[in-house]
This record gives sequence, C-alpha cells and structure tokens, in this order.
Amino acid sequence: MKKILIISLLFCPLWIYPQDATVSSPDGKLGLSIAVKTGVPFYSVKYNGKTILEDSPLGFISNIGDFSKNMTFEGKNEGKIDKSYIQDKIKTKNVHYVANELTIRLKNAENKEIEVVFRVSANDIAFRYQIPRFGGTMSCVIEKETTGFRFPSFTTTFLSTMMAPMGGWGRSTPSYENGYEADGALCKPTRNNEGYVFPGLFHVGDNGWALVSETGVSSLYCASHLKEGKEGLYTVGFPNMLQNNGFGSSGASFGLPGTSPWRTITVGDNLKPIVETTIAYDLVEPLYEPSQEYRYGRSTWSWIVWQDASMNYDDQVKFIDLANAMGYEYILIDALWDVNLGKTKLEELVNYAHSKNVDVFLWYNSNGGANDAPQGPRDVMNTSVARKKEMKWLKEIGIKGLKIDFFGGDKQETMRLYEDILSDANDFGLMIIFHGCTLPRGWERMYPNFVGAEAVVASENLVFSQQVREQEAFNACLHPFIRNAVACMEFGGTFLNKYLNRSNSGRNLRLTSDVFQLATAVLFQNPIQNFALTPDNLTGSPAFAIEFMKKVPTVWDEICFIDGYPGKYVVLARRNGSQWYLAAVNAESQAMKLKLNLPFFAGKTVDYYSDDKTLVSSVRQMKINAKGEAEIIIQPNGGVILKN
Ligand code: CA
Repeated sequence: MKKILIISLLFCPLWIYPQDATVSSPDGKLGLSIAVKTGVPFYSVKYNGKTILEDSPLGFISNIGDFSKNMTFEGKNEGKIDKSYIQDKIKTKNVHYVANELTIRLKNAENKEIEVVFRVSANDIAFRYQIPRFGGTMSCVIEKETTGFRFPSFTTTFLSTMMAPMGGWGRSTPSYENGYEADGALCKPTRNNEGYVFPGLFHVGDNGWALVSETGVSSLYCASHLKEGKEGLYTVGFPNMLQNNGFGSSGASFGLPGTSPWRTITVGDNLKPIVETTIAYDLVEPLYEPSQEYRYGRSTWSWIVWQDASMNYDDQVKFIDLANAMGYEYILIDALWDVNLGKTKLEELVNYAHSKNVDVFLWYNSNGGANDAPQGPRDVMNTSVARKKEMKWLKEIGIKGLKIDFFGGDKQETMRLYEDILSDANDFGLMIIFHGCTLPRGWERMYPNFVGAEAVVASENLVFSQQVREQEAFNACLHPFIRNAVACMEFGGTFLNKYLNRSNSGRNLRLTSDVFQLATAVLFQNPIQNFALTPDNLTGSPAFAIEFMKKVPTVWDEICFIDGYPGKYVVLARRNGSQWYLAAVNAESQAMKLKLNLPFFAGKTVDYYSDDKTLVSSVRQMKINAKGEAEIIIQPNGGVILKN
C-alpha cells in the first residue's frame, strides 16, 4: 500500500496534472500552488502546511482578449531575487529582500499568452500579470480583473469599507476614511455595496494572519480595492465609474509590454511579519532621481486645533514661534491662506519663518473638476500649466513642501494627477503630502519627494466627532497592523490640549492620556509629522511631554513588533541610531500588565512614561535587568513609552 502511494506521488502529478506549479519561500514555510482547473487558473497559499488561501482565481478581461477563462498552462520559469536597498523614510532603513520567483505562462482560447509572476519571500507573496505585445497590438485596456483571494470559512476580517463616490465634504469622497471593523464576519456585505479598501487584514483562525494589499500603482493603472466578498472570495475591483465626478474610465490602459500592479499577501502565524513587512517597497524602484536631498522632520500647524479662524498673519506667527521653540523644521500653513493672507502677505510670513529657522509647507486643493470643496487655493494643482507656474513661484519664495487635499478617487485619471504633481514638484524641490486621498501604494520608494498621505480616520476627526474620540485608542491599536503596515500615514496627531479647541475648555474633551498622545508620535510612522501641538502647550502641558516632543524623531532605522492584537492593544519599538523608543497603547477597558522581553534595553536604565489609574501621566527611571525583561502597566486609553 505504502509503496503504491510513493510510486503514485513520484509519477502521477507530472502527467495527470501537468498544469501544476509550486513555489515556496526560501525557508520553505510559505508555499504557493497553481493549478488550472476547467480553464481557470487558481493559486492557493499555505503557511507551515496550514491553509491561508484556498483556490483563488487569477485572470482579467481586456480589450485584446479574455484571460479569465479557457486558459491553459503553457510552462514555467523559476528564479531567485536577492535585493538590498536603503530607504530612509519607511519603517526600516536597510532592507534585504530574498524571494523565490515563479513565472507561469498561460494561454487563452485565442492562443494569446500572458505571464503571471509570483515572488515568495519568508512572509510575503507578491504577484502580477505581464502582458507582451501581440504582433501589431501595442496597447491594451484592462476592463476587469478576476483576481481574487479566497479565505477559509472560519476567517474573520479587519476591513474598511470603500466610501461611495462624490459624497462627504464638498463631494470629495472616497478618501479612505470609513475606519476599520475588527474581527468582522467573512464576506459580510457593506451598506453601500462598494467593497473594501486596501489593505485588508484577515485572521485565518489558528492557521495564521494575512494582510492583503497592492503596490507599484503608478500613472499606468488604476488603484484597486476588494469587491464585496462571496463564499470566502474577495476579488479585485476597479473604481466606481461615478468617482471623479464621473470623469475618466474605470479600467487601466497602458502600452505593451506592460504589467498590472503587484498584489501582495503578507502571511504569518503571528502578527510580527504583518507589522514589520516592507513588501510595499521591496517590489518597486524609484521612478526618478530626487532633484535634491529632501529633509524630513516635524511641523506645527494651527488649523487642527485653532481651525479656519487661525488663518491670519498673527496666529501663523504664533505657530512659527512654536515650531522654533520646539526645534521643529517646519510649519504647515493650511487652507484658505490664498484668501485670508494673499500672496504678498504669505511671502512676508515665509520670510518671518525663515528668520526663525523654520521652513514652510503650504496647503492646496487638488481640484479641478473632481470636487466642490470651497477651500482655496483651487485650480492651480490640476493642470500642468497652472501647476508649474505656481511651483516656480513657490520655489522662488523658498517653500519646501505642499499638502494637497481632496482627490477624487482611485481611477487611473487620478493616479496620473498624483504622479504628475509629484514629478513636477520634484523639479521645483518640493516635497508632497496628500490629504483626502487614496492609500499610497509603494510611493515612498517610487517618488523620492513623496512624504506622506492621510487615507485614514486622522486627527481632524478627533476634533470633529465624539464617536471618533471614543474610538481613538481602538483605532490607534489597528493602524500598526493594517493601514500603517503597508504605507506611511500622515495622521497629524499628538494633542496635548485637554479639550480639542482653541480655548482648551468646554467641549471636545480628549479621552486619552498625555502618554497615549506621545506614544502615537512613535506608533504612527510618517517621515514628516504635523503634530497637533498649540502654543499654550509650552506652558500648560507637563514639561516632560514637551521635552519628549522636542526630541522625537520622524525617521527610523528599524522596527520591532513586541506584542498586541489589532483593536485591543499594541506594543512596538522603533530605533533611530542608537536610541530605541518603545511605545504601547491600550484600547481595552482594563489595565494591562505585560511582561516584555526587550533585548535592546538589557542592562540599561530607561525613561518609563506611564499613567496612573486616573490617566495622570508621569515619567520615572526604570532599570531593565541583564536579560532585558521588563514589566509595564498600560491603563485603558493610556500609554507607555520606554526610551533609552
Ligand atoms: Ca481627511
């Protein structure tokens, strides 16, 4: 019996299933299998022998052929990827990416052959379609993808619904601001039938975790999302045609040979590989050289707490002085400066900032025809002619970066706008932050002057919404595992006001502690941080908090996930040079006592920032033993920071 089985294993697969191909990670733990079944190509994924993805379809329908059915397997090539690179504005500075590569060739009913390339590294799978020229056919339009991710029935989900088009403030949605539901049911329908944004986190029971996203989306494709799930299967969806005021197509158009973006699945039997993954950057290359060395850093901005009324010369001076007092590199002068200050007064303000060693980021509306958001300046970032004229002036007066808001969606039309803004801005030495925008997909590496994107329920919603204030800790405990795991996140946070308004009294009570707020400056990663400090905080907040905020870096050499569960609590550490910052926050209703193993603090005396039961924050010294063991207590809505 045994002998027959061995013989059948040795000889059968080759001729019974000639279409099968497999590839696994260099350490052998993460495995991917491919099989064409009744004309449809499928892939499946296992980690440590346990199922992560069941048979998941591959394919697309284009205007040069249907590659979703009647497909045959034509052959494969294998290769290895070993790539080291330095990227100074992501979670890890020195990255070594090692993967096994499998390229399969698939032919459709018209004898047209395409390739699918898979790369499998220790904890990441990436794949994309490669489409050649077909004779004289040198361009194509992808109309629809059938690419999917099929999870076992016992999987729970951490997903954020895609916003419906042309809704919200000034008809400016979708902007990736619906928030995530934790441990939701598999294939639970959404209210608006729009599906879910990338990234999506899936808890595959005891089998492990999977974070699904995409990277390498440039002007040559639309940004995709996950459509409504059915029977465990989530397929790749293209943007709703109504986005961008109905303008622009929903598919993707490019010259041949061409490729789809990389779709990525980060897999682990625990959450460490999810939090620490660099797959969004491993697969892409810079699309142009930086025109200069860009300097990252910290910024103040009046708008977040003092709001629209603070867009006047005197209040902006106060925030420049605050930036100067904090030793910050920048001030962000937000919306409405065009009307309330005008260009001449703005130039005066920029000169004043420079006299205080503070450089300037300036706000713009992205539109065009994509929204009705009334804040100006409008209509200067949407065409190349207007943009370059404006950027020439911006360079002349010494502006270092722009924050551009209110993009119209995920169509290729809008991806072109993002890329054109970035490319033009680089010519004028400007860094770019996007707000009211899509998820950046590998952009930190692709575009050297890209320094941040919102695409999250960010600090402004803490000011606007009681519900968001109540969920502040919950959301903070999601980001390191999901949104901020695949891209930088320009959150604009760290409030030290007790009440999130100018008078610091009466309404919009902050529910989290001071140390919680400081911890988010480390938890939330973005190379430019616009902190929500106000001038009053210099005297009204604990001195240790101000001292901490003066020194906290915005770029990191290394990340180390230590403990946590999405939506409940998180403990992670980041290193800048020889300095480690451990940051922890707690969204549970009970205090959390944790015994941690922190080899990087072994034998050291560290500053221990924590809260008492009433969320009064303080700092004291803590000696960590030679084994690196430490015990911390995180209060509900509170935080802990350890720092050498
Ligand atoms: Ca927003």
